This record gives sequence, C-alpha cells and structure tokens, in this order.
Amino acid sequence: MATPIHGFKPPGGWHYKDGEVLLEANTLNELYSTVESYRAENYLPNGDVKGDINAFLCGSYPTYCHGVDMVVVTSVTPPNRESELLGDITIWAKNILNSNKQVNLVSSELAEARARICLDCPKNINWRSGCGACITATERLSASIRKARDTASTPRLGGCAVLRHDNRAAVFFDAEHLEISGNLPDKCWLK
Ligand code: SF4
Repeated sequence: MATPIHGFKPPGGWHYKDGEVLLEANTLNELYSTVESYRAENYLPNGDVKGDINAFLCGSYPTYCHGVDMVVVTSVTPPNRESELLGDITIWAKNILNSNKQVNLVSSELAEARARICLDCPKNINWRSGCGACITATERLSASIRKARDTASTPRLGGCAVLRHDNRAAVFFDAEHLEISGNLPDKCWLK
C-alpha cells in the first residue's frame, strides 16, 4: 500500500474528502482518527480508513509517497451515497407537499411496528450528511408531511435505499401514497 513519506505535509494541510465532506486535521494520525469518528458518528461503513486516506493523498501527491506504483485507483464512493439520498428525499417530500392529494396517516401503533422493521433492515441507511442547511430543510419537509408525528422508534430511522424516501415519514403513510418498486427485502413492511 502506498503511504505518505515521513515529513511530508500536503499543500493546504492534512485533509480528506469523504463523499462531499471535507475533513481536516493537524497530523496524518489525527486525520485517520477524524475520518474514523466522522464515519462512526454518521452511521457510515467504517471501511478501510487508512487505505482510503493514503490512496487519496498518494493519488494526489504521488512524489511524496512510498510504493506509489502499487496504488490501485478505486472509487472511494460507496453505493447508496447519503448525499444522493438526501436529494432524492427532498424531491420526494416536496412532491407530496405539492400534490393536491389528501394524504392519510396511519395509527402510531402501526407506524411504530413498521419503524421497527425498517430499523432491522439493511436498506435503512443514514441520509443526514453533507450540507447542514440542506439537512435541516429536508428535516422540516419530513416533519411537515408527517404532521410532526413521531413514535418511540421513528427518530432513529434513516432513509430507504431502495424506495428513496424518508422512513421517518413513510412509516406514517397509507401504502397507497408510496411508490413501491425495486428489489425489496422479504421482510419489508411494504412487500
Ligand atoms: S426496504 Fe422496506 S423495510 Fe427496508 S428500509 Fe425500505 S421501507 Fe424499510
């Protein structure tokens, strides 16, 4: 694996872009820890933090690294990027708000039962990363379409990687208001 040589400091300081988020630190070791904490706090797959950072730095500044000929250029963008899901959820929520159709919400008991299924589902992923103002705006839209309702489990929900909606709001909707497509897991409450 290519590694930055001792004494090297990249132009602009130690930094790494995880998706669209720029993370900075004072030292290389601190950068490893910063990225590791960022991924943990945002429920992102931990992956190979050191490998990702070294590949990024040595790909950008190859003359300052050992073993550069061994660098394999791979995408550091995992599937189902949270930033893309954020955009999809924003459009989904706006469409519901702008439609003239009356949206019926289900009972809290049913919403809670659905939320527990989503919490156990690998397709329930975090969408709250990247642009802070965008996240806040989308949180507001989500609260608006579910009439600010929540149950014990719904605040812990993310978005559905298959249906591209906010699970925190979707669990309150009559199924007729949700577009069901794609490869849903067998245990999905929408199957
Ligand atoms: S696939 Fe179904 S159960 Fe899984 S997160 Fe999406 S809506 Fe929830």
